[in-house]
Amino acid sequence: MNEQISFIVEIQNIDVELLKFEESLKKTQSEIEDSQNNLSSKELELEKLKENLTEINKKIGICELDIKSYEDKIVKMKDTQKLIKTNKEYNAIQKSIKDNEALKKKSEDEQLEFLENKDSINSKIAIIEKEIEQFSVGLSAKNEEYKESEKGLVKIKKDILDKREVVKNKIKKDYIDVYEAVKRNKGFPAIASVMKSGACTGCYRMLPPQQFNELISESVFMQCPVCSRILYIDTTITEPVPSDGKISKKHSKNKI
Ligand SMILES: [Zn+2]
Repeated sequence: MNEQISFIVEIQNIDVELLKFEESLKKTQSEIEDSQNNLSSKELELEKLKENLTEINKKIGICELDIKSYEDKIVKMKDTQKLIKTNKEYNAIQKSIKDNEALKKKSEDEQLEFLENKDSINSKIAIIEKEIEQFSVGLSAKNEEYKESEKGLVKIKKDILDKREVVKNKIKKDYIDVYEAVKRNKGFPAIASVMKSGACTGCYRMLPPQQFNELISESVFMQCPVCSRILYIDTTITEPVPSDGKISKKHSKNKI
């Protein structure tokens, strides 16, 4: 393989390694972020439940006061009733007593409902508090792990970049500029091998035969006329043999 081309392949391998390294770093960071968001949303949920609980306790208190006030009224009315002489007055007070008893019953029912709600909120709070505790433990473990590996990660990245610099310095400026431009525009691969059939592995279009022959000579720096990727013949790849087990004439002819 042309030496310059082999350096470009090498720098591409380093760049792919760098990309994978950065992606895995991002993945860890986003996992930490997700855990943090999860924890925050649970904390918010807990806060809301506690607010609900305060509200419910207030309502329970109000019901209690109402019930007490209806009870007092009923007692008073019953006392008054004893002193009443006429049937009409008696009946009127009797009706008031019944009305107050109905109101008292209504408050008692409401209070019961609030008490049931309170129980359910308390159970939810207990569950969420447990979840928050688990999330917090998990998150601090992840943070700790990340912190510990951080120094190692910085070193790994520096090693990759140092290695890249050494290879980059071996490549002609014109070539590295083309490589960087294609990488920027097309992503990987920026340098693509050409199959023995003559197809570019970047865009899978066939190279014109003359260009393909020139490339086989390994002495030219060439870009794909369709996708602009830098081209090379990869002699390390063994392409799949046709299913009938025979190697086509063209295939064997193009063997390097
Ligand atoms: Zn192409």
